[in-house]
Amino acid sequence: MRRTIPIWWPLLIASLPFGAGAADIWKPVADVREVTVRVHWVSVGELRAAARRIGKRTDAKPLGFSVLRRNTSTGRFECDVYLVDRPTRLRDSATASLGHEVAHCLGFSHE
Ligand SMILES: [Zn+2]
Repeated sequence: MRRTIPIWWPLLIASLPFGAGAADIWKPVADVREVTVRVHWVSVGELRAAARRIGKRTDAKPLGFSVLRRNTSTGRFECDVYLVDRPTRLRDSATASLGHEVAHCLGFSHE
């Protein structure tokens, strides 16, 4: 019996821009109704290594990034979120970063 290997196509690779502001606009780029999200809490070095593995460079002070992939045969979505800091307060920058990257996992992008 032949085994089919799923092909996951990177749909959106987004890093958290250091200068992003509240006035910047989200725009939908994929119709994501269901997605499997994996959150990776990593050090800055691990974040840079993960970015290099997918051919992406990081900012001088990277906060996080996400990779939304779509399986070309099943249409299923998976998303990997890489973050340096864990949330500790309801309104801290780590919580904002987590929400920002999950928005990318739901198919939203920005300039
Ligand atoms: Zn972003």
